[in-house]
Amino acid sequence: MEYTVKTTKPQEFVNITGLVSKAVSESGVKDGLAIVFVPHTTAGVTINENADPDVVEDILSGLNKAFPVKGNYMHIEGNSHAHIKASLMGSSCSIIIENGKLKLGTWQGVYFCEFDGPRNRKVYIKIMD
Ligand code: ZN
Repeated sequence: MEYTVKTTKPQEFVNITGLVSKAVSESGVKDGLAIVFVPHTTAGVTINENADPDVVEDILSGLNKAFPVKGNYMHIEGNSHAHIKASLMGSSCSIIIENGKLKLGTWQGVYFCEFDGPRNRKVYIKIMD
């Protein structure tokens, strides 16, 4: 299934755990695998803490310290920082489905990672039996 994630900032982490959980419920699959895939080169997906929202802000600020928006990059489009961050976060994640629910750790959430927004982005979610 294909979903749209509307980002509202140049860079942000959007919690999409609910979207993935909904896809699992709608599929009716009780034991299997959820694959989340982001078909973009300047956005990614990661799993991290969902309890304290400061954590994803710190991840973003750490990435920005390592790879500033303006830097000595070759790519003429001027968004190399976003390509680098997208590759670091990765373009997919897999989560085990058990008893019809995502088997995430207590403090884990799934985050869509925007690095060159705001834009309307796509996320593909595949639920496997
Ligand atoms: Zn580019």
